[in-house]
Amino acid sequence: MMDSVKEDVHYRTCPLCEATCGLEIHTVNGEVTHIEGDKQDPFSKGYLCPKGFSLKELHHDKDRIRKPMIRKGAEWFTVSYEEAFKEVRKGLRSVIEMHGRDAVGVYLGNPNVHNLSGMLYLPLFLRALGSRNQYSASTVDQIPKQLAAEFMYGSDFSIPIPDIDRTQYFLVIGANPIVSNGSLMTGPNMRGRLKALQDRGGRLVVVDPVRTATAKLADDHHFIKPGTDGYFLFSILYTLFDEGLTKETHLAQHVNGLSEVKKLANDFPPEKMAAVCGLDAETIRTIARDISSATCASVYGRMGTCTQAFGTVNSWLIDVINYVTGNLDREGGVMFTTPAAGGKMSKKGYRFDRFRSRVSRMPEVLGELPVACLAEEMDTPGEGQIRAFVTVAGNPVLSTPNSKRLQNAMENLDFMVSVDCYINETTRNANVIFPAPTPLERSHYDLSFYQLSVRNISHYSPPVFEKNEGQLDEWEILLKLAALVGEEEPHQDAVNKLDDASIHYLIKKDIKNDRSPIYGRNPKEISEALEGRKGPERMLDYMLRSGPYGDHFKQQDGLSLKKLEENPHGIDLGALKSRIPEVLLTHTGKIELAPELIVDDVTRLKNETNKSDMLLIGRRNLRSNNSWMHNLPVLMKGKDRCTLWLNPTDGERLKIQDGDVAVVESEVGRIEVIVELTNDIMPGVGSIPHGYGHDLSGVKMAVAKDNKGVNTNLLSDEKRRDAVSGTAVLNGIPITVSKTKSGREKHGTVRTESI
Ligand code: SF4
Repeated sequence: MMDSVKEDVHYRTCPLCEATCGLEIHTVNGEVTHIEGDKQDPFSKGYLCPKGFSLKELHHDKDRIRKPMIRKGAEWFTVSYEEAFKEVRKGLRSVIEMHGRDAVGVYLGNPNVHNLSGMLYLPLFLRALGSRNQYSASTVDQIPKQLAAEFMYGSDFSIPIPDIDRTQYFLVIGANPIVSNGSLMTGPNMRGRLKALQDRGGRLVVVDPVRTATAKLADDHHFIKPGTDGYFLFSILYTLFDEGLTKETHLAQHVNGLSEVKKLANDFPPEKMAAVCGLDAETIRTIARDISSATCASVYGRMGTCTQAFGTVNSWLIDVINYVTGNLDREGGVMFTTPAAGGKMSKKGYRFDRFRSRVSRMPEVLGELPVACLAEEMDTPGEGQIRAFVTVAGNPVLSTPNSKRLQNAMENLDFMVSVDCYINETTRNANVIFPAPTPLERSHYDLSFYQLSVRNISHYSPPVFEKNEGQLDEWEILLKLAALVGEEEPHQDAVNKLDDASIHYLIKKDIKNDRSPIYGRNPKEISEALEGRKGPERMLDYMLRSGPYGDHFKQQDGLSLKKLEENPHGIDLGALKSRIPEVLLTHTGKIELAPELIVDDVTRLKNETNKSDMLLIGRRNLRSNNSWMHNLPVLMKGKDRCTLWLNPTDGERLKIQDGDVAVVESEVGRIEVIVELTNDIMPGVGSIPHGYGHDLSGVKMAVAKDNKGVNTNLLSDEKRRDAVSGTAVLNGIPITVSKTKSGREKHGTVRTESI
């Protein structure tokens, strides 16, 4: 008798980047056979990038951790959950009892924001822990944009999104949406969307130190010196005022601070700023005129504008330009989403500078401290020093500044626990690791990215595979950790109690919020309507049903989790709509166009002088996003990507040829790296991608070790920060470059100083 073959097709969204593409996953007898784009997905319409295919390799990767592990010396041992939690309880509780809660630091990696469990249950764990030492990848990424939004509109998630499908002029600064597939601008198939913009007669203009894939498609591309976007943006603003190109719209009644902005712009005429930025004055004036004369336009900046010395000022200026040209909250301009889950807004005051870091006194930003402070908080003795550390889906040893100092500090911790898929450069230091389920073993809903999307979309993905017997889901691990730091035993009844408490807390909050559709309702009636579900599904069902499109618990025919389950390809809720003033949560109820803390930083911009001949920036590749992706063969195919890009004129000046090994030095570190000469980078700039440097002992990622590359964060200085948000400067690092020897080593790879 032949064995029966069980073939299945599963539909789900891809959680590996912000684009939220729909996937069609084919399985046979519990194994993924192949993955395609889901043509019936109303948002991605069949598009997917090479990372989407890699979910198969991630799921079946032999290096992936599948059981809790405890480290004894350099050896790792598989243990039961019970033993692992016992060890964690002992390790964390003894630090808390002896040194207090701030002695436990936490780092949350970027994958958490792509994870329903992480989004819903990490806040609960953090509240139970009660430590001020909370850090995340946000302060090496997008926090300047969120902080600007917090100050201007009153909420860090009220970020205006380019209405890319309707705009007629799209100015992209320090961003590469064709490769990132949109960032703070969720939209699958960015190449297709940008081509559609050009096909309808619109223009795409890119300003970037690199001729990126997006720049190559653009109608115009202009090089700009790294770190000078603030001068460029101010000189655009100057031109708009100077030439009478600003437009007054219906939003004028909802705005404070326009005259102050105009006064500030006076100091930045293009004729004075051109030499600083590397663009000529007429080009700057032409861009300003084109934004103003377009029927609708959208100015957008991302990583390059955020992770530099004036990240918050840049993020603010972009919105100011969109406002003064009449493009804020307007079709074809930049608009606010109406997310299906979330968006019941209430305001309690700005989440900024409510406390400060212990060593360099950096202000808290949106509930966390800048990760540039992490190493000094670990290695500087005194009350409040971090002595125990928790990481969830993060690899700060590779992704945060001055990695060498951080790694050294981690070696002296009393205790460390991680929730992760791999023993990587960071988790190799842990005492205990809990295995995170793969994306195919957990359910998914993009809570964050539907708040940042170019259309309003709602799409729920059930797990493709059951977890192994006894394996905990991530939300259960987080609740057990919450129980044990909250002085309870991490038993199942504690998990159930915390899970119930969290949903009841949400309901109670919303029935008192006069902006919520369930304002004034009976909490018992709402709780009863959610019976039959638990964990993330219950929370999500609640958020959908009480959200703007929800059924409001039998009040209307609307969204619920059940409805999404009946629509496995997702539901398109339509194009973005005008939302001002409804979306404004500032104390004044207005758009604050000149927030005091940002305006104060303009003085620093005016006085800044960067005299370095050579500046280092990062770059992104379509096949790489997080460091763990370097362990998947499908994403590591092809030529080495961890190289230093230099312009041939710099090569000639430095006597470095294509393929030579160069020494790159900064104030804090020194690395050796293979050089690629290319006219795609402007003279005076070097570029190395981040997330590499897989040559540390104890890392158990075989493919990554074969493609180790070099850790560019050995060069970034943790003391160089955006003064407002504390975000680390990863673009515009002063470096010197010199030649060592010719020729490529095995795999064309590079050497780093061992750390
Ligand atoms: S673009 Fe992003 S969401 Fe789409 S398949 Fe690639 S990694 Fe996944």
